[in-house]
Amino acid sequence: MEPIKNITTAETSNSQTEFTPLSNRRGVGGEALLSPSDITLWHDLLAASRHIVITCHRGPDGDAIGSTTALASWLRRRLPEAVIHIVAPTIFPDFLKWVPGAEDILIYEGHEDEVRPIVEAADLIILCDHGELKRMWTLGDVVRDHPTPRIMIDHHLDPEPGIADLVISHPDLSSTCEVLLRIILQLEDGLVSGVAANPLPLLTHSEAVSLYTGMMTDTGAFTYASTRPEIFELISILLRYGIDKDKIYRNVFFTYSPNRMKLMGYMLYVKLDVWKKAHTSLMTLTNAERRRFGALNGDTEGLVNLPLQILGMKLSIFLREDTEHPCIRVSLRSVDDFPCNEMAAEFFGGGGHKNAAGGEVWGTMDEAVALVKKAVQKYMTLLKSPLPSSPKGEGN
Ligand code: 5GP
Ligand code: MN
Repeated sequence: MEPIKNITTAETSNSQTEFTPLSNRRGVGGEALLSPSDITLWHDLLAASRHIVITCHRGPDGDAIGSTTALASWLRRRLPEAVIHIVAPTIFPDFLKWVPGAEDILIYEGHEDEVRPIVEAADLIILCDHGELKRMWTLGDVVRDHPTPRIMIDHHLDPEPGIADLVISHPDLSSTCEVLLRIILQLEDGLVSGVAANPLPLLTHSEAVSLYTGMMTDTGAFTYASTRPEIFELISILLRYGIDKDKIYRNVFFTYSPNRMKLMGYMLYVKLDVWKKAHTSLMTLTNAERRRFGALNGDTEGLVNLPLQILGMKLSIFLREDTEHPCIRVSLRSVDDFPCNEMAAEFFGGGGHKNAAGGEVWGTMDEAVALVKKAVQKYMTLLKSPLPSSPKGEGN
């Protein structure tokens, strides 16, 4: 895929709206997420920190890149004396390179010797968009072994016990970016309602762009996990910073290379297997096929969603050989109530959300396909029943 350059000028230089103060935001966007003791702990942990490392899961997605870049920028404005790094366990796709601040993200894998000392020098580590250290692969081991306080900001189910000193975990929310924006609103309200008004703007334009990106990508551009009205209240706040949401959409979704487009055609025409009775589809992609289409890692993004456009489809499964490691990556997507996260946890050593989850199989593609068949069999009763038609009058 061609590197994406110069497509975001309008997204990073909107100085007119950058410092617009917002009034009357109390109560907007939902209930407060932090308890009074959480707020005290937050301030205590940050006040004691001079070297902060912000991290996310391996294979960072829009929510991971959006939340880490927004948080780093926001903290840098509030703690100008602190040194703040973002460290991602592995590379992230080209279609996220334009996100403001993404250019400063350090990649751990392949740069271990340079990046490990930075993580080991941290006096505070903030984990974004995951609740298990194993989702950071080898960087997770470094973090686990480093005795420093941690904060976790996330929206995945069942965070690992003891993963952080302050656990801000809200699986009911759309994205880590939504959690972060609500934390910022709550913390800033505390500041501005005090005697001295907060002299800093709530957000910069760039931070609003990052936060919108994560909320948009984790909801498939607001096509799932996004029916709560608070989400749109929060987005209306972001829009008031002058972000161009249509451009953000194009930056993320309209970035295919010709090869990616051809790969998509190939996957649908040749590789799509539909199991009608189970309302389930399976696609597999080997590294040999990747090479044939010159497809990079980011080029497979979103392929798993396509089969759900088939009428009546409940579950889409996508297996792809990992480019770096001898394992098969598993992606699951569903509609309505089918619990992808439960299937991912039970069969693929992973997890995620009800409608979007993933995991791995450390074996061959044939072994992974056999495991998929077992998993579908196990969930057959749930999968076999037809989708309820028009439950609330939305139509089919
Ligand atoms: P994807 O299919 O895009 O790789 O992942 C979809 C979602 O599933 C991610 O946003 C993440 O929440 C979850 N997920 C993917 N892989 C894993 C994994 O190995 N472990 C866990 N716990 N969750 C995963
Ligand atoms: Mn997320």
